[in-house]
Amino acid sequence: MSLKIYNTLTREKEEFKPITPGHVGMYVCGPTVYSDVHLGNCRTFISFDIIYRYFKYLGYKVRYVRNITDAGHLEGDRDEGDDKFSKIARLQQLEPMEIVQKYTLGFRDVMRQFNCLPPSIEPTATGHISEQIRMAQQIIDNGYGYVVNGTVYFDVEKYNKEKPYGILTNRKMEELLEGTRDLGGQDEKKGRLDFALWIKAKPEHLMQWPSPWGMGFPGWHIECSAMSEKYLGKQFDIHGGGMDLAATHHTNEIAQSQACYHTSPANIWMHTNMLTVNGTRMSKSLGNGFLPGELFTGNHPLLEKAYAPNVVRFFMLQTHYRSTLDFSNEALQASEKGLKRLWDAYENLAKLPANDTAAADAELDANVNKLLNEFDEFMNDDFNTAKVLGNMFELVPVINSIKDGLIRADALSSQTLERLRQKFKAYLEDIFGLQSGSAGNEKLGEVMDMLIGMRKEARAKKDFATSDRIRDQLAAIGIQLKDEKGGAMSWNLE
Ligand code: AMP
Ligand code: ZN
Repeated sequence: MSLKIYNTLTREKEEFKPITPGHVGMYVCGPTVYSDVHLGNCRTFISFDIIYRYFKYLGYKVRYVRNITDAGHLEGDRDEGDDKFSKIARLQQLEPMEIVQKYTLGFRDVMRQFNCLPPSIEPTATGHISEQIRMAQQIIDNGYGYVVNGTVYFDVEKYNKEKPYGILTNRKMEELLEGTRDLGGQDEKKGRLDFALWIKAKPEHLMQWPSPWGMGFPGWHIECSAMSEKYLGKQFDIHGGGMDLAATHHTNEIAQSQACYHTSPANIWMHTNMLTVNGTRMSKSLGNGFLPGELFTGNHPLLEKAYAPNVVRFFMLQTHYRSTLDFSNEALQASEKGLKRLWDAYENLAKLPANDTAAADAELDANVNKLLNEFDEFMNDDFNTAKVLGNMFELVPVINSIKDGLIRADALSSQTLERLRQKFKAYLEDIFGLQSGSAGNEKLGEVMDMLIGMRKEARAKKDFATSDRIRDQLAAIGIQLKDEKGGAMSWNLE
């Protein structure tokens, strides 16, 4: 059974053929650590965590490189002005590296809460300045880069005469040019699509390094090209990131590698689709970002309650990574219920008695095996987690009915029962990364429902002392009760 992966570059699902048999080299663009990661960013990192875990399940040795962008990412992805770190550092009167440290630690903490495995290597842009300078120099030497006043640009027009620049998103130069503004003779770049490999720093710029072209700092795109080459080689298996990176960042990475090494860096380009809010992409600049911490505590005006990290992770798995996913209270509440149902069945599965007979219900036994076989088939079809979960939900009533005695205990053969247990464990825990006690806050939720019920009863009896005591004692341990319209009550953790 072969693994098929959708390749943005060829716009087809392709059979995965690793460059080195048994090994996978995968590079994923990491966060720009000048602010907290929002849930949209997390969707991309959780998707690649599942992909990483699935490769491991298949027995591959994976080198998973996910960088930290801690320099060079300019506002609006332009080539002039401050980088994002220096701007915040100036505003908050901190060292840029204090900003970087704060948000790197925050990011790792969020990844840990979501139970994402750490990548094999997590290189930083500032730790690889010399590699980036070397690459920019090689691009100049090969004739695709030019220097103007201490800034190094990539010559897109020249490159496009030899290789199609817009290859990744299947766009011609004319189309790409339409999307850019006229330079009006103001710009030092030769062409509108040219981008900076190295940027001259003004004296007051906070993060700058010496280079053959004077003091400056690297462009954002060269970071990923230099770091992926260093740890995975000039050509590696998979390069990933969110879909919003394909048109510029990844397009430029391909051009840089081709201009420098005459190779396209990755065989397969994988892009995750966007997490949206009411159909609009979740993004920091639009101000519609939800932070993971806000979800885990319920501390957000638009959230009706808190959701455990497992529930949020499960919510993301229910949609294929290449489809958009819309974020809402209703969807999260449905995921919470769904996960509880699934996890209860998983726990019931462990309690089913072993039997050493053949299947008493051969048809059911065959159907269970068919559903189990499809787990790997669906994952091998471009990592379709949603379809695997669909099959799991078909198996839930079978498991529960055996447990409740509605289906005889020996309906399935012992072999099938064992397979059912193994597959559920492998998928729920190892591949999907859900954890035991998985519904997380769910037990707490039940206790809270009980306390809220008691408080309502006390109020109805005008026993305000008891009702206030419940509210105040909860507040003392960091749980806030909110009175909603119509006498309803909700709660969140501080
Ligand atoms: P950044 O920190 O902005 O460089 O983004 C980190 C990663 O998150 C990139 O791979 C982006 O493509 C991805 N990303 C940003 N916004 C979203 C979103 N709304 N949904 C999914 N992925 C996103
Ligand atoms: Zn990148």
